[in-house]
Amino acid sequence: MNPEDLKRDVLAANLELCRRGLALFTWGNASGIDRARGVVAIKPSGVPYDAMAADDVVLVDLDGKVAGGRYRPSSDLETHLCLYLAFPDVGGVVHTHSTYATAWAQAGIDLACEGTTHADYFHGAVPCTRRLTDGEIAGAYEQETGMVIVETIRQRGFAALAMPAALVHGHGPFAWGTGPADAVHNAVVLEEVARIAILSRGVASPQPIAQTLLNRHFLRKHGPGAYYGQDRTNHP
Ligand SMILES: [Zn+2]
Repeated sequence: MNPEDLKRDVLAANLELCRRGLALFTWGNASGIDRARGVVAIKPSGVPYDAMAADDVVLVDLDGKVAGGRYRPSSDLETHLCLYLAFPDVGGVVHTHSTYATAWAQAGIDLACEGTTHADYFHGAVPCTRRLTDGEIAGAYEQETGMVIVETIRQRGFAALAMPAALVHGHGPFAWGTGPADAVHNAVVLEEVARIAILSRGVASPQPIAQTLLNRHFLRKHGPGAYYGQDRTNHP
C-alpha cells in the first residue's frame, strides 16, 4: 500500500472516532499498518481532530522509529506496536476513553456477552486485563499496557480477530481489526454493547446468552462458514 493511502485511511479512522463521539478533545488514537513495508501510521500526539490533515499522520517502523511526518506520534504508540507484533492478522488498532466501555474498564470486570449484538462481533465476554504492577507502571508503561492486553487475549484462548477488543483495568478500551476502519467499527460496537449492558442492569439482572446462540451469531459473520452480508467483509 502507498504510504499516502495508509495515512489517508488512518486520518479517516481518527476523524471517525471523533465523529462517532468516542473521543473528546485529543483523547483517542487510531493507527494502521502496512505489513509489506513494515510501516505503521498513527495519529500525531496532541493535534486537535478538527485541525488534523493526512500529512500530520506520523509514519513509524515497527521499532517505533519515526519514518515520516513532522509531529511526534501518539504517546500510546508502543501499545499499538505491541499489538501489531503479537497479532499478525491485525491491520488497525484503536484506543479510546469512550464513556461506557471505560466504565467497565474502571469497574475492572469483563463485559459479558448478554445479547446477539455483542455476539455478532465478539466471540465471548470482552476481557478486562489484570492491573498493571507498580514495576510495569514505572517502566515501559505503554509497552506493558500492550503486553497485558496480549497476555489476556492469549490466556482466554482467543484468536485476535475473534476477540477484537480488551478493557485495560482502570484505564479504557483498546480495539483492533483487519484495518483502521474495521478497528474503529469494533470500537464503536464495543461502546454500544457496553452501553446496552449498563442500561439492561437498570431493568433487571441480565444473564449471558447461551453458548450456542453466541456461536451462531459470531460464526455466521466470521470465519470460513460465514454467510452474513453480500461479500466476505465482516460488516454490513
Ligand atoms: Zn488511554
